[in-house]
Amino acid sequence: MQTIDFRSDTVTWPTPAMREAMAAAQVGDDVYGEDPTVIELEALAAEMLGKPAGLFVSSGTQGNLIAALTHAQRGDEAILGEDAHTFCWEAGGIAVLGGITPRPLPTDHIGRLDLDQVRQAIRGDNPHWPRSRLILTENSSGGNHGAAIPPDYFAELRAIAEAHDLRLHLDGARLFNATTALQLDPTEITRHVDSVSICLSKGLCAPVGSVLVGDRDFIAQARRQRKLLGGGMRQAGILAAAGLIALRDMTQRLTEDHDRAQRLATGLANLDAIAIDPTVVQTNMVFFALAPDASLSPPEVIEKLKAHSGIQLGFYGDRTFRAVTHYWIRDEHVDALVAALGEIL
Ligand SMILES: *Cc1c(COP(=O)(O)O)cnc(C)c1O
Repeated sequence: MQTIDFRSDTVTWPTPAMREAMAAAQVGDDVYGEDPTVIELEALAAEMLGKPAGLFVSSGTQGNLIAALTHAQRGDEAILGEDAHTFCWEAGGIAVLGGITPRPLPTDHIGRLDLDQVRQAIRGDNPHWPRSRLILTENSSGGNHGAAIPPDYFAELRAIAEAHDLRLHLDGARLFNATTALQLDPTEITRHVDSVSICLSKGLCAPVGSVLVGDRDFIAQARRQRKLLGGGMRQAGILAAAGLIALRDMTQRLTEDHDRAQRLATGLANLDAIAIDPTVVQTNMVFFALAPDASLSPPEVIEKLKAHSGIQLGFYGDRTFRAVTHYWIRDEHVDALVAALGEIL
């Protein structure tokens, strides 16, 4: 990468191995179900996530939207975290396109809904009310420092969902970051949910794409929703070839990113002008704030870092920044960020 880009793991370029695999990929018309590389990717994702079937989709947003449209109907209600990606960052898709009412609830410091509040939010049968139908969860929790939520929470949600005939979807855009941090096989979490969407294009470095997995009937219906949304792609094996490397190889190296996030958090904690709690850093995200008496304003910090060191940071409003570690961030980049902040502040 030309710049040192900490804004997100979405900025990752495909690796050289991915570019080679893409150039050599066998392809077919995937809307006809004839692209061998897409078929292989869907099967591998399904296997790794412990579900019978998978569907390659264009983005994490599309995967979550397709899941919601498949699980729920117009007039249904989806319970979700008030800081969930599906509620805050997906343009209101489930409501706009699905006629599904979001029912946002508060989350705790690692992104969990309160189970009693979930029970209370589930509605009975009354013609005045939307029908409770779906619970949307997220792991890792992007709105909570990329926290990794352990499996017992999903087991408890599963029991509630089953008792009330609700479906449970997991937005697992960074599920492999969560399970790497928890040192678990992803199926320890996914076995508690009906469907899961994972992103290939974030820390896993593929240029494009996500995979949605679930049971066979769910995926058959999801395929219809993907077509409806204009998400049926033709020779998509070019993209799936990178996705295969993402799943096989890139899921195995995320500890490196997490170690660098720790290195960064520890370095930042030594700077007087930065406020940070390094103990909340579990995966590849580091949130930190500019101390009230810092000599520069947040936009000035962003500008100076970029001008002097070619370093880019995410800005989260108020005085908060986010730095995300990923494949293209090395130890020396982490040290350069800490040193640059030490100099300019
Ligand atoms: C990035 C992200 C998505 C959506 O992914 P896109 O590919 O950007 O549409 C969904 N959920 C979470 C938690 C994410 O971080």
